[in-house]
Amino acid sequence: MRISVDRDVCIGAGQCVLAAPEVFTQDDDGLSEVLPGREDGHGSAMVREAARACPVSAITVREEARDRE
Ligand code: SF4
Repeated sequence: MRISVDRDVCIGAGQCVLAAPEVFTQDDDGLSEVLPGREDGHGSAMVREAARACPVSAITVREEARDRE
C-alpha cells in the first residue's frame, strides 16, 4: 500500500488525522501529511476509512502487488 495526500486539494478538515492518527498528521497550516515512514500505511486498517472520510478526496491509497506476497 502506498498513501499520498494531494496538499493542493486538502482543505485541512482533519478527518484523516482523526481516523488514522498513526499515519496522518497536520502541519502548521492544518494541511494533512503522511507521517515520515508511514507511507506504507503502517498496517493501519483505518487508512481506507481516512481516505473515504476525506471530504475532498485528497487521499490516494494505491495497492502494490508486493503487498500480497
Ligand atoms: S481529511 Fe482530507 S481535507 Fe481533511 S486534512 Fe485529511 S486530507 Fe486534508
